[in-house]
Amino acid sequence: MLYNIIMKRIVLASNNAGKIREISEMLDGYEIVCPRDMGIDFSVEETGSTFYENAFIKAKALYEICSLPTIADDSGLCVDSLGGAPGVYSARYSGGGDKENNKKLLSELQGVKDRKAHFSSCIVYYDGKNIIEGTGHTYGKIGFSEDGDCGFGYDPLFISDDLHKSFGVATAEEKNSVSHRFRALKALKEKLAAFFE
Ligand code: IMP
Repeated sequence: MLYNIIMKRIVLASNNAGKIREISEMLDGYEIVCPRDMGIDFSVEETGSTFYENAFIKAKALYEICSLPTIADDSGLCVDSLGGAPGVYSARYSGGGDKENNKKLLSELQGVKDRKAHFSSCIVYYDGKNIIEGTGHTYGKIGFSEDGDCGFGYDPLFISDDLHKSFGVATAEEKNSVSHRFRALKALKEKLAAFFE
């Protein structure tokens, strides 16, 4: 049937090439395009207090520009003994870049025994009417110093419970197989399949 061979186009609220590839691979059967492909200069302030709120703010703002189904994600690191910080402020934690964020995290955890933490990711689909979300988590502990230089962000400090090593020394395949983003995408994919069936 023609219906089955027409790929549903979804606009992703990011121009990040890595994210586009990861999401396109996972959401096979959908055509994922980014704002740049559509000549849209997209940016929006992330004013939400949860990952879901920020993802929805981005998905809705993009939908209002392009009038096509959109998806947007938001993610970050939550440390138990810091009351869930840096959370939605993960990218802006220190006011500097990844190195400064990691330095600040280590200094906040100086002398702290409970180092349990998790990454969370929320991905929201929005088509002007329906909101479908997928959430994923990955658990671990914050190390006492950086280990490895693979990945990005807090990866060198995050010792994964699944991999028994830091994301900073894990290969991309290893990390992707247990990552919060992978799990959120999997959850979203299942909900989208049920919705469009
Ligand atoms: P974003 O939602 O993908 O833009 O991520 C927000 C911030 O959370 C990033 O800038 C990182 O500081 C942190 N973060 C999210 N996911 C990861 C990850 O997989 N590894 C390391 N840091 C991450």
